[in-house]
Amino acid sequence: ARWTVEGGWGQDEVVPYGPLELSPASAVLHYGQEIFEGLKAFRHADGSVWTFRPEANAERMQRSARRLALPELPAEDFLTSLKAVVAADEPWVPEATSEESLYLRPFMFASEEFLGVRAAHEVDYYVIASPAGPYFPRGVQPLVVWITDEYARAGAGGTGAAKCGGNYASSLLGKREAAENGADEVLFLDSETHTSIDELSGMNVVAITKGGRLLTPSLTGSILEGVTRLSILRLAEDRGLEVLEQKLVMSEVQQQLESGEITEMFACGTAAVINPIGEFRSKEGSWTVGDGGSGEVTLALRKELTDIQYGRIPDRHGWLTRLV
Ligand code: PMP
Repeated sequence: ARWTVEGGWGQDEVVPYGPLELSPASAVLHYGQEIFEGLKAFRHADGSVWTFRPEANAERMQRSARRLALPELPAEDFLTSLKAVVAADEPWVPEATSEESLYLRPFMFASEEFLGVRAAHEVDYYVIASPAGPYFPRGVQPLVVWITDEYARAGAGGTGAAKCGGNYASSLLGKREAAENGADEVLFLDSETHTSIDELSGMNVVAITKGGRLLTPSLTGSILEGVTRLSILRLAEDRGLEVLEQKLVMSEVQQQLESGEITEMFACGTAAVINPIGEFRSKEGSWTVGDGGSGEVTLALRKELTDIQYGRIPDRHGWLTRLV
């Protein structure tokens, strides 16, 4: 659908996948006025297709839109667009038995043709879909995480809490640095003091202590509020874990890993759901998490969340919405 400052949102349309036609002067190409979301469509055993907490993604997209001076898409229209795409792409939704899904990528960008710097008066919204294989085809594999002391993905007053393309552009060099140091992912520290944990390039971070507490960085304004994070916090509370959203100073976390006070850590996000962290590395050294494998609580939370998503256990929190 297209939005204009005069007419608001226009009609939705389902069209075959293919290239877009854009003016070389489209504002998005120069100033990065763009936001997106990521969700999955899951096939259940009876053939029906569901998605997980789309209202949370719709709301987050509205928050991102406000921060990037883009128009807010009403939550009903967000859901309608997901339903239309999944109805058209239904044969691409993998079988219930496969642990695969159809990844959905709604995105919005400034398509107006002009070179001045201001919020665009013409904006396009699209949803594309792509089958997503099982994230761990050979079983869950713990991540090696590189702590970058050079780069930050977000600064105070910046766009860190929005899901906008520019944040990912600024994280790429950190990811490359991680790969050069043999790590799978990069951990960004807060950009002001470079001491506390923000998040990975595409996942939030959680720690579990010996005493059954679950710790995760509070939403400081430079962290993306993950829908998976939110859901895990709830499932952890349901299990009687004490959930604490607080500042996590990396040097203290390193001490707690060494003393055995923190027993498990994981990263969470829509793509991997939950990915155990096996080791942190930095220029100063390396820290193994637990025994470097996949922790018990981590795997139990992962199983519970995926069981809800695939309809294998009751959806007690009403998190699923039927698409087809
Ligand atoms: N942080 C960042 C930077 C991300 O890109 C994502 C993925 N959307 C997340 C956290 C996790 O968010 P969610 O659980 O909603 O996928």
